[in-house]
Amino acid sequence: MKFHVLTLFPEMILNGMNTSITGRAMEKELISVNAVNIRDFTKSKHLKVDDYPYGGGAGLVMQAEPVYLAYESIAEKMEKKPRVVFVTPCGNTFNQTMAEEFAKEEELVILCGHYEGIDERVLEMIVTDRVSIGDYVLTGGELPAMVMMDCISRLVPGVLHNDVSAEFESFHDNLLEYPQYSRPEEFMGKRVPDVLLSGHHANVEKWRREQSILRTALYRPDLLEKAELTQKEKEWLEQKMNEKEN
Ligand code: SAM
Repeated sequence: MKFHVLTLFPEMILNGMNTSITGRAMEKELISVNAVNIRDFTKSKHLKVDDYPYGGGAGLVMQAEPVYLAYESIAEKMEKKPRVVFVTPCGNTFNQTMAEEFAKEEELVILCGHYEGIDERVLEMIVTDRVSIGDYVLTGGELPAMVMMDCISRLVPGVLHNDVSAEFESFHDNLLEYPQYSRPEEFMGKRVPDVLLSGHHANVEKWRREQSILRTALYRPDLLEKAELTQKEKEWLEQKMNEKEN
């Protein structure tokens, strides 16, 4: 998987991605991150990439030309027109399903805005997807780009040590993950649930599934509406929720 990030702060992208699991994935060439500095493509003597918005208003807007030329410098080396994601609060909210879809691409271009955003004309020309990482406003698109790349990289075969682990995490089947425990068996008087020490695989699986359902009902009832539960599981959950209320 090759990521190309169009940004005014390439060092932020490279330093962020160079660490831990994504760093190792880059070393092993399972993923690559090409951070392209938009400022390298300005024709302004003073390396300016932004200007005042037409119509007035606060802040500065990134100009179309350097963004277009930065895009062209990578697109011209590709065989087909790439998918270009503009990270923006005005996009569809990023989620695991989107990550799975983006992970199918061999190359992905991510465009980071700064200041008040980017001249709409260049966005209309090059952008294929607009993605937000949540309903809040950040200073720039670099953190959202890293959020997306981190999440997508985990889905690239070989990036996680244990390839099955991504399949059983939160949001798989619209359920949150069950609680996890590690050594010691007792910590400050709190014991690990007995079933996890029982060695009984089927009971452990049943307990984990029930805990996933319960957690989703408590913290993300909106997700639970989309999850597929058996009649027995629905009845179990109703009983648990009643017990909690009383
Ligand atoms: N004026 C813009 C608006 O109200 O939508 C916000 C611009 S923001 C200060 C600067 C840049 O940060 C945006 O162009 C975008 O690339 C990035 N950004 C900020 N918040 C974001 C979010 N929640 N998701 C994705 N990108 C975001």
